[in-house]
Amino acid sequence: MTQRSTHWPLVWLLLWLPLAYTAAVSEVVPGTLDVRWNEGAKDCAATSQPPLQVHAYEPQTIILRQNPCADFEANFLYLLIGSRKALLIDTGAVADRNRMPLAATVLQLLPDAGGTKLPLLVVHTHKHLDHRSGDVQFQGLPGVQLVSADLDSVRSFFGFSRWPEGVAHLELGGRIVDVLPAPGHQSCHVVFYDSRTALVFSGDFLMPGRLLVDDAAEYRQSALRLIDFLEARPVSHILGGHIELDARGDTYWFGTQYHPNERSLALSNADLLALPAAFDHFNGFYARYPDFVLFHSTRILAAEAAGVLAVVVAGVWILIRLWKRRRLRMRRSSAGSESSPPVLLNKGSGGR
Ligand SMILES: [Zn+2]
Ligand SMILES: [Zn+2]
Repeated sequence: MTQRSTHWPLVWLLLWLPLAYTAAVSEVVPGTLDVRWNEGAKDCAATSQPPLQVHAYEPQTIILRQNPCADFEANFLYLLIGSRKALLIDTGAVADRNRMPLAATVLQLLPDAGGTKLPLLVVHTHKHLDHRSGDVQFQGLPGVQLVSADLDSVRSFFGFSRWPEGVAHLELGGRIVDVLPAPGHQSCHVVFYDSRTALVFSGDFLMPGRLLVDDAAEYRQSALRLIDFLEARPVSHILGGHIELDARGDTYWFGTQYHPNERSLALSNADLLALPAAFDHFNGFYARYPDFVLFHSTRILAAEAAGVLAVVVAGVWILIRLWKRRRLRMRRSSAGSESSPPVLLNKGSGGR
C-alpha cells in the first residue's frame, strides 16, 4: 500500500506531461507560407514590381519583403500583432520613404484601438545596417517606440543583466514573444520566439544563405542555448532575414538584384540542430550545407588579399628578372660590337 502510493507523483507526471505538451502544440495558430516572393530583375529600371511585398502568414502575423531591386539585401521584416501592442522586427535596408514606404505600410496594417492605431514597438535582430536603415521612418511617430540596435540599448531595454545568458519576454496582449541573445554573426544579435505561431525569427543567425561568422565559438554557444530553449517548445518554422540560395541550394552572387527560382524562406528545427556540429567541423573559412553556408567573411577577405599580394609580388619578381635579362643582353651586344673590327666599305664594289 505504502509502496504503491509513492509512485503516484510519477504516474501523475507521466500522464500530465503528454497532455500539457499536446495542449501547447494545439494552441499554436497555423499560418501559410504559400507565397511567391518577387524575384527582382536583371534590369531593375524596367521592372514594375513594388518595393515592398506584404504577406499575411495569418491575420496577426505579417511578413514584409523588400524587393531585391530596392536593395540587393532584400530583407524580410516581421510584424506581430497582439491585442495591446504590435511588434516590428527589423526595419530593413532602405531609409528613403519615397523609395521604400515602410512606416506608411506598417501603420496601415496596424488595427485601430480606441480611435488610434495600436501602439508599435520597433526592435531589431541585430545592428547591421540592412536591418535598421528604415529606423528614420519611425523616429518621432506618435505611438511608436523604437529600440536602438546597439548592445547597451538592447541589454537595458530587454533587461539582459548576464548577456548573452537569459531570456526576455515581450507581452503584446494575448501573445508573448521571447527574446534570446544570439551573438556570433554580430555581437548584439537576438532571436525571437513567438508563442502564438511557434515561429522563430532568426535574423542573420540562421537563414537560407551565407551565415557570416564573426565569432565561431560564440555562434556555436548561441546555437546550443537556442536549442536548449526550444527543446520543450513547438517550432513551426524558422524565418530569417534573407534568402540567398536558389532552389538547388546555390548561392546568388553577392550584390545581385535578381533572385530567380528562390529557395523557400523557412528553415526547420533540424537546421538549427545541425548548427553546433557544423561549427565543430568548420575549417574557419567556408562550409556548405544543403540549407545554409558558413562563411567567415573577414578571414576569406584576408586570404583573398594575401592571394592578390602573392600574385603582385610574383609579377614584380618576374618583371625584375626580365628587365635584368634584357639589360644583360644589351650589355653583351654592346660589348660585342666594341670588340669586333670596323667594317670597311669597299667603294668599288657598289658601282653601277
Ligand atoms: Zn547581418
Ligand atoms: Zn542581413
